[in-house]
This record gives sequence, structure tokens and C-alpha cells, in this order.
Amino acid sequence: MKKLMAANWKMYKTAEEARTTAEELVRLVGDVPADREVLVIPPFTALSAVAGAFSHGGAFYLGAQNFYPAEEGAFTGEISPRMLKDACCTYALAGHSERRHVLGEDDAFVGSKVEFGLAQGLRMILCVGEKIEERRAGQVESVLRRQLEKGLAGVARDISTEDIVIAYEPVWAIGTGEVAGPEEIVHAHAFVRKILVEIFGARGNEIRIQYGGSVKPANCAEILALDNVDGVLVGGASLQADSFSRIVKA
Ligand code: PGA
Repeated sequence: MKKLMAANWKMYKTAEEARTTAEELVRLVGDVPADREVLVIPPFTALSAVAGAFSHGGAFYLGAQNFYPAEEGAFTGEISPRMLKDACCTYALAGHSERRHVLGEDDAFVGSKVEFGLAQGLRMILCVGEKIEERRAGQVESVLRRQLEKGLAGVARDISTEDIVIAYEPVWAIGTGEVAGPEEIVHAHAFVRKILVEIFGARGNEIRIQYGGSVKPANCAEILALDNVDGVLVGGASLQADSFSRIVKA
């Protein structure tokens, strides 16, 4: 199982800034370690620039932060999976906490994106994670169970396991500098694994689970060594090529 090292650039970088960062990343990373895949998820307007920087091939993949779950149609302002595939995307995110909590997306809508994206041939990264008040109220497991069961409700049980990735991102650790502790990560990832096995049987063991939330070059190796951590989803520390290249090689 290759570790998926993903950079979520959120609403940062013009096309030119993205191209420069992506080219520098390719140069600094060199040969991607055989047991890793690198994924960059820029804003839509920079997809083509980053695709150009990755056109040499290798284990550099392109992903999208969002899409609307329909083939095409009268959806002003939206982008379809077909357009993303045309723009060289292999992966897409669904259920990122900023879309759930800032843009108001609910579990059912997130689930419809996961189902539709897979049907359209994208690999889907379903993001899950509890808010701080949910953690304080002892609801970590119930929140994760709900987000996973609803997010994966439309996914065929015989799905190719490399097409689906779960990102565990405790909301209180995103962009705060406050990384979850090793026990918290191990417990959450083991619980996600348990649900995946409930849903997909033994094949649930083959689905990658990323950790996200204030991952940096200094803490990445330690996090990657934990049980059931099959990659990282990085925001802030992925914006500079130097810092993300050190994460990729950690
Ligand atoms: P962060 O963001 O690394 O800046 O905490 C992670 C994410 O939102 O995916």
C-alpha cells in the first residue's frame, strides 16, 4: 500500500504561483520514494498549470478540491468530474471540514459526491473528523461512524480499494498548529479501520487512511509511523515546495 502524500492548496495561489511551486516541488522531490504517491490539489484555475509541471509522469498526481455531482447542466459556478478528468485530475476531495462547516455541506451531499465521483472514474478522498466540542462531549466515534456510513453509503462493496481514501482530519487540528497526539490519531484511525472492515469486509484493510491537521516537516515522520496511517493530507505546510518536499520524503 503506497502512502498518499497530499497537498491541499485550498484557495491559495494564482496559476503562475502554482506552476512555480509545482516545478520546484518536482525538482526538490526528485524520484518519489517507491512506497509513496504525491498528490497536489490546487484551486481549479491552477489545475492546468500544475498538470504542465507534472507532465513528465512519475508518481505525481493531480486532484481537485471539489465538484458538483452531475454530468453537466445548468449549475452556474460548478465544475463536473468529467471536466476534472479532462483537466488531468486523478483524485478529488469530498467532505473537507471547510466545505462541511463553512459552506454548509451535509453528509448526504458529501455521500452523493463520493458515489458520483467514483462512478465517473475519479479516485475519491472522503474527509471525516470531529469538531472540538464533539471531542469534549465524547462523540468522536459517533461522528466518525456517521460521516463514514453516510459518506460511503453509495459505494459498491466490491469497489477497487485504491479508488477510495479516507482522510481523518480532526477539525480542531486543521490550520491551528495544534496537531492531534499519537494516541488520538491511533485511536481514531483504528476506529475508521473498524468501520471500513464493517462496510467492505476484509478489503477494508486495503483502503488508505490519511491523517490531516497541522502536519509539518517536523512531525510528519512520527505521524506516518503510527498504526493505520497510510499518508497525510497537508494544508498550510504544503504551500511551499521546500516544506512539502521534506514532508514527502519524511
Ligand atoms: P492544515 O490543513 O495542514 O493547514 O492543518 C489540513 C487540511 O485542511 O487538509
